[in-house]
Amino acid sequence: SSFAHFGFDEQLMHQIRKSEYTQPTPIQCQGVPVALSGRDMIGIAKTGSGKTAAFIWPMLIHIMDQKELEPGDGPIAVIVCPTRLCQQIHAECKRFGKAYNLRSVAVYGGGSMWEQAKALQEGAEIVVCTPGRLIDHVKKKATNLQRVSYLVFDEADRMFDMGFEYQVRSIASHVRPDRQTLLFSATFRKKIEKLARDILIDPIRVVQ
Ligand code: AMP
Repeated sequence: SSFAHFGFDEQLMHQIRKSEYTQPTPIQCQGVPVALSGRDMIGIAKTGSGKTAAFIWPMLIHIMDQKELEPGDGPIAVIVCPTRLCQQIHAECKRFGKAYNLRSVAVYGGGSMWEQAKALQEGAEIVVCTPGRLIDHVKKKATNLQRVSYLVFDEADRMFDMGFEYQVRSIASHVRPDRQTLLFSATFRKKIEKLARDILIDPIRVVQ
């Protein structure tokens, strides 16, 4: 397969060419069309598979469509992930988000609460966050989830292992029900299966 099959516009293709990817990875070939269709998705994929771009590219297109329909100040897309991945995903959001001048903010435990709150208040269409820290900022009203319509949980199994099941579920319950939800996990254990049943609607499963 090739990138041309995705039907991306010239602005996004330009950023992809700059990253020197020659062809989409298997998870991108399968996952991008599903995510572009607006369906909920379960991605069973490990780090190194190219899963990040598989949810970022469709996210950018979703944001551009949504931005016109609904002006506002909160993020349109929220990516919830373990601390280790936060900066890395944020960097990819910035890199590809340049195609449309979209802004990303990273919000994670350990970083300065004040600096993060300031960045959130300056406005960003994309927030990449760890579960606990996002909830802290919402409680302090540094941001709000009212406009969120694209919600990603990356490495859900790792977040569960680290004891964040309650926070993950809480975030899902505070985002409008007509959102698009994507759930990525390296493994598909009973607890993740249960989570998928609870927070996704009629998902399509994509395996790396
Ligand atoms: P990920 O699995 O999303 O953490 O991605 C692993 C690495 O693969 C990252 O460094 C990406 O920049 C890179 N990558 C993502 N998509 C592609 C692609 N289509 N071709 C080559 N490298 C890629």
